Amino acid sequence: METNTFSYWERTAFIDDADIIIIGSGIVGLSAALHLKTQQPALKVLVLERGFLPAGASTKNAGFACFGTVSEQLKALEQASEEEVAGLVSYKWRGLQRLRQNLGDANIDFTQHGGYELFMNGERDQAEYCKSRMDGLNHIFKNAIGLTGIYSSADAKIADFGFKGICGMICNRHEGQLHTGKMMRVLLNRVCSAGVMVLNNCAIKRITHEGASMTLDTSQGTFKADKVILATNAFASQLFSELKVVPGRGQVLVTRPVKGLRLKGTYHFDQGYFYFRNIDGRVLFGGGRNLDFKAEETWDFGQTEAVKSKLTVYLREVILPDQTFEIDYWWSGIMGFGEQINPIVKEVEPNIFCAVGCNGMGVAMGSLVGEEVAELALRSGV
Ligand SMILES: Cc1cc2nc3c(=O)[nH]c(=O)nc-3n(C[C@H](O)[C@H](O)[C@H](O)COP(=O)(O)OP(=O)(O)OC[C@H]3O[C@@H](n4cnc5c(N)ncnc54)[C@H](O)[C@@H]3O)c2cc1C
Repeated sequence: METNTFSYWERTAFIDDADIIIIGSGIVGLSAALHLKTQQPALKVLVLERGFLPAGASTKNAGFACFGTVSEQLKALEQASEEEVAGLVSYKWRGLQRLRQNLGDANIDFTQHGGYELFMNGERDQAEYCKSRMDGLNHIFKNAIGLTGIYSSADAKIADFGFKGICGMICNRHEGQLHTGKMMRVLLNRVCSAGVMVLNNCAIKRITHEGASMTLDTSQGTFKADKVILATNAFASQLFSELKVVPGRGQVLVTRPVKGLRLKGTYHFDQGYFYFRNIDGRVLFGGGRNLDFKAEETWDFGQTEAVKSKLTVYLREVILPDQTFEIDYWWSGIMGFGEQINPIVKEVEPNIFCAVGCNGMGVAMGSLVGEEVAELALRSGV
């Protein structure tokens, strides 16, 4: 039963006749919409989003424009071949270039202060091991993305940033950062200017095939389209249980402005499970999913005392040891993790395509993932 009685005007101007409906207005869904309209301007594209704002990861993340620390690359090499890992780095690097090209660096506050992997005092062996593997990784990734000397030791800078309890640091000078909110707002503006309709507060509950077209039952009534793109990331299995994407919640804080803040750049530790950066004279700090993987494997937003207290302790003892600070914001976002190192981009059912499971790296790869699924839909004929 429809929950909404639409007027003739609403139906004919906002709702009816979409060639393609995209479910989810995160970076992947909106990038897919942009690509569809760039390739075929006459196409009628409608994006349906269940949140008031996008309600997954795209407006909740840390805004790191990164493509992996040494520890993360070594871990990936345990899971996949050298070729696959190099391919993923290249994908993220190209994704970041596409994002910057689509939106413009100034519009999204993109800056490149470099990224750093930190090793705690108790991790000296791990630090030495990672440093011993830097040259090899630099060689592999030079061939993949054409950049030289990606990773280098940065121990000399530990004191400059004012950290305590850190025994080693590796720099990736090509890493950058951006303003996540501005990124999504500019992307949304681009998509709307291209003629795409984006409707919020509309949760898709079921999709059924009706002849050559598709009916979508939603919290706002029924919609029809010839094709559907599913860009719901962590929530993919709620509509298609065969899509193996596991949710992973990330909790984040931002301090009030810190007087004389010395850190500048993006920082990762504990194999990327913790991450922090500067933003507007404040510190953004998040992570800690590894403290209790099971508890964070959830579709529910929110914070836990365990993660909050660990983040606060690290802030006080390692990141801002000799400074007074106050925490101004807490929030969480939900990432989607697939079984492979790459996202799942495929046709799930006839004329239903998915692009989900960005594995917590969607700022970097989301623009290309969206393009890829849009191409899949276009090639199938619309
Ligand atoms: C705390 C945190 C920090 C992160 N930091 C970084 C980082 O620094 N760098 C990086 O590269 N990546 C980072 N990520 C990962 C990145 O944000 C994600 O990979 C990316 O945003 C995924 O984009 P998406 O469009 O696939 O999914 P989402 O942004 O999650 O979008 C999916 C959308 O689908 C909607 N939806 C779901 N189900 C339905 C339904 N049934 N009907 C209608 N709409 C629906 C949701 O409301 C949501 O808006 C981080 C993520 C988190 C949570």
